[in-house]
Amino acid sequence: MNYPAYFDYNATTPVDPRVLETMLPYFNTHFGNAASRTHVYGLKAEAAVDEARGQLARLLGADRKEIVFTSGATESINLAVKGVFEARQHGNHIVTVMTEHKAVLDTCVHLEKLGADVTYLQPDTDGLITPEQFRDALRPNTLLASVMWANNETGVIQPIAELATIAHERGVLFHTDATQAVGKLSINLHELPVDLLSLSGHKLYAPKGIGALVVRHKTSLIAQQDGGRHERGRRSGTLNVPGIVALGKAAELALVETQPFASHSRQPLPSGKETQPFLQELYGQPNHPVPETQHLASLQGLRDRLETGILKAVPDAFVNGSRVHRLPTTTNIAFAGVDGEMLLGSLNQIAVSNGSACTAASTDPSHVLKAMGLSDDLAYASVRFSLGRFTTEAEVDLAIQHVSEVVGQLRHALAN
Ligand SMILES: *Cc1c(COP(=O)(O)O)cnc(C)c1O
Repeated sequence: MNYPAYFDYNATTPVDPRVLETMLPYFNTHFGNAASRTHVYGLKAEAAVDEARGQLARLLGADRKEIVFTSGATESINLAVKGVFEARQHGNHIVTVMTEHKAVLDTCVHLEKLGADVTYLQPDTDGLITPEQFRDALRPNTLLASVMWANNETGVIQPIAELATIAHERGVLFHTDATQAVGKLSINLHELPVDLLSLSGHKLYAPKGIGALVVRHKTSLIAQQDGGRHERGRRSGTLNVPGIVALGKAAELALVETQPFASHSRQPLPSGKETQPFLQELYGQPNHPVPETQHLASLQGLRDRLETGILKAVPDAFVNGSRVHRLPTTTNIAFAGVDGEMLLGSLNQIAVSNGSACTAASTDPSHVLKAMGLSDDLAYASVRFSLGRFTTEAEVDLAIQHVSEVVGQLRHALAN
């Protein structure tokens, strides 16, 4: 078992050993620039990028020409929101939600200084916004709506298909930050009126520093980075070939996991002679092999075991956000009557977080939980547990035991 046990997959995931093995040759053996069409080094890199583009397009039900590789979701979101605003013909109104990631909220604040008018919808106590509420917020001058698919702190899933349909009826472009949804939910953009979709590699078992923006055909977007006109002029800069190869492989693996009936068609993990020795070192000795890929249904079983285990063992604990419209891998639990800072500091056998790693620089309570109506104290005393591909039952049982002991001790100390 890793120690402390890792329950922070929504902050970042380890690179899957199959992904790492696939990307490695593109650092040195096939190191060419994907834009060098005059020799085999470049052509080999270009072919690898093409394959990855196809793999990602397949996962999302998108056309490969709609995929723009970026450095991650923050860049994708900036490109989507700023790019649409800059390309606008008329209108300056943007609709978004108070529980969005800071990459969306701070981009909107930036655009407010440039003349944008932004509506920040408040969710209900479950973290959800309703289609009616969304429809009411749209105006004749609304340009863009940006609503996150699944929340990184609570896992709450917004009704994206309904919202995007409403937006389209009103001629409003629709962007979704799908960073936490990709690889956890089945996504088919061929059947959804979504114009722009952001995602990130490192939430999907690929490395940090690679991501993508899906730009559906006929979406007007001004590039935010000028240069050699890579990515069909939408994002200049030499392509991160190893990262792109990794994201493609990660998408291929995710496709297997998110298909409801594909749980037995798992790909074998690299093992034996073909595996680079240091991969074995990183991911376990031959006697302790890397855990097999978790199908999402079994992962949800582990999340439910963790959640019910904690709620049973700890009085006055409750789940933040909808338990119905929620990712299968996340639970956010509030522990009444404990000091949040002491709680996080005392949970040293498990790696968890309160709020998102992206706002961890500040000591403010979570803006997501606050928007859902939690007090500062309860928001501080809330813990996000996020599970992933390599989570084991033993880790879950350790977490239940540890959390109940720590909360018990802190409450006892407070009462004396
Ligand atoms: C992690 C995350 C981001 C930021 O992604 P980066 O690739 O780290 O920039 C944006 N939105 C959500 C929902 C996230 O979870």
